[in-house]
Amino acid sequence: MSKLPENLILTLACPLCKDRPKVIQSEDEKFIECHKCNQKFPITDGKIPQLLSEEAQPLKK
Ligand SMILES: [Zn+2]
Repeated sequence: MSKLPENLILTLACPLCKDRPKVIQSEDEKFIECHKCNQKFPITDGKIPQLLSEEAQPLKK
């Protein structure tokens, strides 16, 4: 796993939130997290964020 480039993350948007809140990469670098709806989305091959509503998983608090 690896960090995604910051400029790539800035182009990403949560598919579940209509107002495109900022998303962040999780600490383990395996997910993109939306803290507005508290869902996370897997990053496949360490570089391809799957920002799809059917891939959403609840974020543990
Ligand atoms: Zn969201």
